[in-house]
Formats: sequence, structure tokens, C-alpha cells
Amino acid sequence: MPPHAESSNRSELGHAMSTPDDPIVIDTQGDLLLIVHYNEDLTQYYRVSVSVLRKQSSYFDNLLDTTKFSEGIAVDANLAQLRMCHKDVACVPSSALPAVTISDIGIGSADARTNLCESSFRLLLEILHGCLQWSIVKTRGYVRPIILALLAHYAEAFAAVPAVATEVHALSEKGYIRGSARPTKDVREDKSRQKIYAGLILDLPDWVQTHSAALIIWGSKRWMGENDPSNSVDAEEYPWDYLSGGVEEELHHRRCCVLNTLSSLQSHFLQLYSSRQTQCKLSYDSSPQCDSFQLGEMVRFFTRKGTLRLQSAMSGTYQDSEPFQGHLLKLVQSLKECPSYQLDGFHRHCGLRTRFIPRLECVDLWSHVGLCLHCWKKERSQHSWVESPNREVWWCRVNKSLPRCGHGRFQAKEMYTSPCQDWTMNEILPLGRGNAGC
Ligand SMILES: [Zn+2]
Ligand SMILES: [Zn+2]
Repeated sequence: MPPHAESSNRSELGHAMSTPDDPIVIDTQGDLLLIVHYNEDLTQYYRVSVSVLRKQSSYFDNLLDTTKFSEGIAVDANLAQLRMCHKDVACVPSSALPAVTISDIGIGSADARTNLCESSFRLLLEILHGCLQWSIVKTRGYVRPIILALLAHYAEAFAAVPAVATEVHALSEKGYIRGSARPTKDVREDKSRQKIYAGLILDLPDWVQTHSAALIIWGSKRWMGENDPSNSVDAEEYPWDYLSGGVEEELHHRRCCVLNTLSSLQSHFLQLYSSRQTQCKLSYDSSPQCDSFQLGEMVRFFTRKGTLRLQSAMSGTYQDSEPFQGHLLKLVQSLKECPSYQLDGFHRHCGLRTRFIPRLECVDLWSHVGLCLHCWKKERSQHSWVESPNREVWWCRVNKSLPRCGHGRFQAKEMYTSPCQDWTMNEILPLGRGNAGC
């Protein structure tokens, strides 16, 4: 929803809301005083250009249209009057300019938030006027993700996304804006959310891909316990605390799909070694003992890692547990530690490790789980894991022709969303390595 706007001129403002004579000058030739209320405690005044705002933002184009709304009509009449007395509008004191007020564009009431909102809105005005002042935004050598996310928020609210996206792409190419690097240590969730949010609005596919993968891998506080990811945000929260347009549900669902896949792989081996079919390929007299030994080792290993729980089915106290809340890469890494114990020296290649690791290699999270912005925007119904899951058996086999998305990349979705993953295979499927999943 566009912020509420109301028109006023200086006389209407009165002393209680007097226009400062020294507004923030975005454009020295500016012919409009923009009065912005962030919250009850902060109001700022900006000298801006009507024609620039109208050209760059459809919100302002509508608002300041000289025939449509009272705001635009009043500003136009006011300017016509001024031009009769002044040859050059630049000479008119700011306090004499027509004014437009924008109300309630702050987020929350905390001072720190208000300052961030103010910096970001000013950045928006500077970008629209082509006079970006790096003194404000270069304080850390690059633009903070939260500022970019708020900038994206205002760009969307004021219908000025194309102009802002063009500027941000240019700055990104110059290295002023970092966002696509893969986080190497524990990231703060809000930073990932800010980059996904800004990336979705300002069309930055690398940001969306990398940081949606990061959010899936690290998990979200919002997805824990009783929290329903679709719970609405309250007024104090930032707009990226819940990623709208189905993104929040999609990312949460992808994490669940990864956990289901890992779970299915674990179950595959437990079932194989619990079955009557002999798994040891050596056909020795000791082969049944080899299988029992390996089953025991794998139950011990999975239980120790916390990925398997042995519970009694007799007392009726068996309960579903919470899904895994930790870091998915660490989970995969810890599963890769599965031991290569053997019953004895004759059973050298028997056991879980030889068969488990190659299948586990199929799960290449950084490449697979991130949101492909192109596919999400253009062909969402086909590429959403929520909307279009694989409804067929997925065979972990090298000779199966792999469905591909518009980018010619393997659809990891086929594996992760299949209701029935068959991990039986003779050869290792070269899935993922170097291929980003869409
Ligand atoms: Zn064996
Ligand atoms: Zn794609």
C-alpha cells in the first residue's frame, strides 16, 4: 500500500508544523518541499523536484498530476503563482515552496529504526534525482544490507523500482554493494532475509539464490516450534521478517524437503539391513553376521548423531518429535562421518560407508536449494517446490533422463520433493556438482 499523502502549503502548515528554512536539499533547483513524517518524533523536510519525482516514480506521478488529485492541482497552482514573481525557482526560499506531506513511513518507533528509515528514504530521493551522496552510505565501505532492504521497501512503496534497481545494479558492479557472496560463518538470519527481500524487489538473482539457500540451511526462528511461517507480522516488525508472495512458505518447505530426503536415505539403509535379503556380497558363511554387524553399527552411529531414535512401540508413549532445528550442512557433514568398521579383514568393502557416502553426495545444498529468481518470477507454477512437487518415484540412477528447467540446469526439485525416493542404484548419480538447482 502506498503511504498516505496529503497536500499542504506553508500557510496551512501553521507554526506547529513550520517548514524549516533549511531543509535537506536534494535538488538546489527543487520546486517542492517534501515533508516526511517518519513517526511522532521525527519529521524531515526535503527540497526536491516535481518533474524528477514524477518521471521516476509512478506514485509521485499520480500524486502530483496537475489534473487528477487535489495534491497535484494545489502544487501546480502554487508553482504557477511563484513563477509570476520569480524568474528562477531556485531563488525561491524553501519555505515559500509548495509542500506535500508524506505520513507514517517509519517502521516501528525505536530511534535506531527511525534513523535507518530516514537514511534509506533519503537514499531513495538521491537516487531518483541522480545525486547519490556516498558520504552517507559509504560509512562501512559498502551499503549495509538493512539500508538496501529499506531502500527496496521504499522503492516498491513509491513505485520507483526501475530507477532504484538500475542504480543498485550499477553500484553492485562497481563493488560498492556486496550481497552475493556465500556466507562462510554463522550469519544472522535478519541479514539473509534483508538480502533476499532486496534481491526479490530489485531483481538481484545472485542475492536471492545465495541467501535463500543460506536461510534454508541455517533455518529460521520463525519456523521453529509452534510458529506457523505464515503468521502475519506485527507492526513493529520489518517487512522481511515474513517474506511475502509465497517465498516464506517455499523456503520453509524446501528445508522440510531436504530433511525428508536425508531421512529417507537413512531409512533406506536401515530397511535394507533389517530385511531378509543378504546385503553382504561375498557369499561367505559369515555374510549374515556381516549384515548384523553393519546394522548394529549403523543404528549406533545414527543414534549417536541424533538422527535416529529407538523408542518402544509398546507403551503408547511414542511421539512425533520436532524436526531438526540446526544447520543442515553440519548435519550432512556429521552423517558423512559414518564409520567404515568391518566384521573382520575379509569383509573389506562391506558396510554403510561405502554405500551411504556416494548417495549422500547427491545432496549438494548450496547448489540445489536456493530460489532461482528467474524461474520464480517467470515460471513459478513449474518451479515452486510447494506448488509443483514431483508426484512420482525418484530413482537414484545415472541412466534416467533428468528434467531440466529453462536454464538448462538439473531440477533438484525432482529429488527433494518426490514422495518416494528410491536410493537403489548401481552407479553414482553425478548430481549437482557445479550445477545450480532451480
Ligand atoms: Zn560382508
Ligand atoms: Zn532457473
